[in-house]
Amino acid sequence: MSEHDLHWDAEPRALGLLQLREDPQYPRIPAARRFALVEAALEDGRSLADRTGELWGREPAKIAARCDVPVVRSEDDAGFGSVVVYADYVARPPCITLYVPAILRLDALMAERGAGVCAIGSTVPVFLAHELYHHFDCLRGSERLSRRHVVKIFGVGSWHWTSGLSSLSEIAAGAFAQQLLDLPFHPKLLDLLLLQGQER
Ligand SMILES: [Zn+2]
Repeated sequence: MSEHDLHWDAEPRALGLLQLREDPQYPRIPAARRFALVEAALEDGRSLADRTGELWGREPAKIAARCDVPVVRSEDDAGFGSVVVYADYVARPPCITLYVPAILRLDALMAERGAGVCAIGSTVPVFLAHELYHHFDCLRGSERLSRRHVVKIFGVGSWHWTSGLSSLSEIAAGAFAQQLLDLPFHPKLLDLLLLQGQER
C-alpha cells in the first residue's frame, strides 16, 4: 500500500471527529464532549437508517418516491472554489438535487483507482441516501439532531445564546448512508478520495 491508498476500513469515529473539526463552532465544544457527540451522531444516522429500511426498503430512489421527495438530476456545476457539491436538499418544498457531472467525475475517479465503489457501481445511491437523512432529520423540527446538541455562545444571567452543531447532521447523514446501503466504508472517505485525486 502506498501512502496515497485509501484506508477503506478507516474508523467512522475518526472520520466523524475529522468532520466535527470542520464545524464553525468547534472551538466552543468542550474537549470532553467531542467523542460523545460523534458517537451520538453516528448512532442517530444508523438507527434512522434501520427504521427507514423497515418502513420503505433500502433503495434510496424508492424511499424518495415513497416519501414524496422529488429527485432532480441537474447538469449544473454547483461547486464553489475548491468545494465540490454532489447533491443538496431543500426542505420547503422537499427536493433533492443530484449534480450529475460532479458525481460522474467521482465515479470515474473511483473506477480508475480500482475501488469499484464496492460493488454499488455508482455513488448516486450514496448521495441520495445522504440527502434523505437530511429530509428525515428536518421532519423532526426542533428535535432535529443539530438542535439537540448545542453549544453555549454567550450567557447573561439566566439567558443563554446557543448554536446548533451543523457538522453533526453531516456525520449522521454519512452513517445513515453507510448503514442503509451496507457500505464497508463511511462516505466521508469519498471526499478524501477526491482530495487525493486533485493532489495528483
Ligand atoms: Zn449533508
